[in-house]
Amino acid sequence: MSVHMSPEEFRRHGKQVVDWIADYLACVESYPVMSQVKPGEIRRALPSGPPERGEPFEAVLSDLGRVLMPGVTHWQHPSFFGYFPSNASGPAILGDLLSSGLGVQGMSWVTSPACTELETLVVDWLAELLALPARFRTDAAGGGVIQDSASSASLVALLAALHRAGDGRVADEGVTRRYTLYVSSQTHSSLEKAARIAGLGSVGVRAVRVDPRTLAMDPGHLRTLLAEDAAAGAVPTMVCATVGTTSTTAVDPVAAIGEVCREHGVWLHVDAAYAGVAALCPELRWLNDGVAEYADSYVTNPHKWLLTNFDCTVLWTADRAPLLGALSILPEYLKNTATSVGSVIDYRDWQVPLGRRFRALKLWTVLRWYGAEGLRAHIRKGVELAQELASWIAAEPGFEVREPHPLGLVCFRPVWQELDAADADRATMRLMELLNTSGSMYLTHTRVDGRVELRMAIGGVATERRHVERAWEQIRWEHAALSRTLPGDPEH
Ligand SMILES: *Cc1c(COP(=O)(O)O)cnc(C)c1O
Repeated sequence: MSVHMSPEEFRRHGKQVVDWIADYLACVESYPVMSQVKPGEIRRALPSGPPERGEPFEAVLSDLGRVLMPGVTHWQHPSFFGYFPSNASGPAILGDLLSSGLGVQGMSWVTSPACTELETLVVDWLAELLALPARFRTDAAGGGVIQDSASSASLVALLAALHRAGDGRVADEGVTRRYTLYVSSQTHSSLEKAARIAGLGSVGVRAVRVDPRTLAMDPGHLRTLLAEDAAAGAVPTMVCATVGTTSTTAVDPVAAIGEVCREHGVWLHVDAAYAGVAALCPELRWLNDGVAEYADSYVTNPHKWLLTNFDCTVLWTADRAPLLGALSILPEYLKNTATSVGSVIDYRDWQVPLGRRFRALKLWTVLRWYGAEGLRAHIRKGVELAQELASWIAAEPGFEVREPHPLGLVCFRPVWQELDAADADRATMRLMELLNTSGSMYLTHTRVDGRVELRMAIGGVATERRHVERAWEQIRWEHAALSRTLPGDPEH
């Protein structure tokens, strides 16, 4: 007898699994949003060693329900408002399952032509849907590629920028000069990580000032830093502008930054990991002002707000030559006719790993299931609910809402009249903990200008107006209850 699961067994268990997922999605709302387990609890509930003999699949499903589920935080819960949404829609889950079923390893075109060609198609489609410039399309000098995460994509952009800044010598000689990367205090930490990995080190990362009110990068300060560094013998390599920062969705002035980049011949990378997909909606296309004219590379994550389960990042570049120059290596065991004739794309040269999953399938199933119309409706709903929430908070005495909030994220904080800044921040954190341990909603925090703010990110697949309303009710209620226990309260 074979040790493998036969196709008939697979059919049976596969149906069980699909049913399990359908049941889960149908009743996800009945779980506490944030897992309430203590560290080590899940690990201790499982056998310490692996099984010697194979077990029935039902035993695995049973442990999933009994042991693992209490340790799961429900990102698809309609009252999950933490971080950014991580949409897992039905068509995406099924597309991912199909990708697993095919078991393709698409490192080169020849290893599965459909994997490469569908990817080229869907990234060009997405560029069109987001009204990104024609030069990002694969039929021009640029092109897009699906990666595992925005972090990897920004690293790849930095490697391409280094290739260009070092006149093509970095790939051979390494980082022999002082190459510099420009970010702001609001830039995602993955850029500093990329600088460390690429050999620039954290010392090679230069922090550009931000406008204290909008938190957007100051192009004038960028110009000053670039000139100073160049005069001191550094090689300014890449500027990262962010469209929709992780902390507060601040938007850097891409056009003004791009103008400075052009003066200095520096690569402009645009990190629009969360917000970029909002450009599906014509009324939000202003987000990408300046991208068409100035960006050398651009990244956005369908795996956040665009209904495609993790992982699915798209990176576009206006010129694929430096990318390929930085990353192409062709060992003997990967040589094949299609590659040597140069008639195909080998996406392994566009990313850090060699191997690649057939991720285009899930983006394709999502784009075809929803259509542009359905995708726009999803983005608009998140934006509308966020705007409503912000208006409720702004109208509530004792709360402050951060302006502007053009997308699905609202940052706000209670004022805590009688407390100094440090105690007020502690009270805000305590409020968040009470809300999150209640199990009925989940939100996260950030710190702006030294002060704690709560973040509520709206845009889940299942999130409806009533979930946002209920969350706001609960925030007000817990805030009032907590206020009564604080010093300064007459009843204290
Ligand atoms: C989420 C986020 C990232 C990181 O995305 P990963 O795909 O998880 O690496 C980078 N930049 C911004 C602006 C983000 O919001």
